[in-house]
Amino acid sequence: MKPLIAILALATFASAAPIKVLIVDGQNNHDWKRTTPVLKAILEEPGVFSVEVATSPGGGEFAAWLPKFSDYAVVVSNYNGKLWPDAMRDAFEKFVSEGGGFVSVHAADNSFPEWKAYNEMIGLGGWGGRNEKSGPYLRLRDGKWTPDTTPGAGGSHGSQHEFPMNTRTPEHPIMAGLPAAWMHRQDELYNRLRGPANNVTVLASAMSPKNKGGTGEEEPLIMAITFGKGRVLHNALGHGMEAVQCKGFAVTLQRGVEWAATGKVTQKVPADFPDATASKVWPTK
Ligand code: ZN
Repeated sequence: MKPLIAILALATFASAAPIKVLIVDGQNNHDWKRTTPVLKAILEEPGVFSVEVATSPGGGEFAAWLPKFSDYAVVVSNYNGKLWPDAMRDAFEKFVSEGGGFVSVHAADNSFPEWKAYNEMIGLGGWGGRNEKSGPYLRLRDGKWTPDTTPGAGGSHGSQHEFPMNTRTPEHPIMAGLPAAWMHRQDELYNRLRGPANNVTVLASAMSPKNKGGTGEEEPLIMAITFGKGRVLHNALGHGMEAVQCKGFAVTLQRGVEWAATGKVTQKVPADFPDATASKVWPTK
């Protein structure tokens, strides 16, 4: 009986062990010093994650920067800056392709236009000289996300505003139990993202209104991507404090990080998840 008891004890321990998350930050044209603590607090809320932060060192130490990705189940990037050193890029590609999870938040999808594997991971990206050579746009045509190879820049946004998010893949574990539409707090609504767009499932999109400087198109904003054995969640939302202190953002991040780490979502959708009539502040008072 002893081996069986040991196996049961191990299984019990494994199910209770927190999912290890590493947030990477330190360079961004956004206020990462304020938003990373919010991302960390969001992920600590459901009690299923343990969260650490790796901040890029400055100066001459940058070239030796090498977080130990393999110690974690999932990496969350709040980083948009200098190209990671060779060894760090190699370690990250190995980590994700062998089954590690990756979550790209907002301007992390502006990063690394020159890094082929990274662009495969995020599916679509913006700015940094991205154009038709980076890959197609994804456009919703007759209910299907369709590659559009029209030449033009990759990445833009209109003026910030509050907008409804539309669920596109309700059967996906991250989206199961979420409403067909919910209101997101004031944010930049990225448009015209483009990239390799391989193995991309669009989970949620939003109409980019022309009267706010947008495209008049549904823009893919939350996407699930596979890269080798790894799962990637690309969340283009989260420009500033208002956007991250948002119930819809928080819950989809909590669910998305768990899915990227394990392929499953065990968290229940909170009863007070916003609907399409009004956004909600996170944390809920
Ligand atoms: Zn932004």
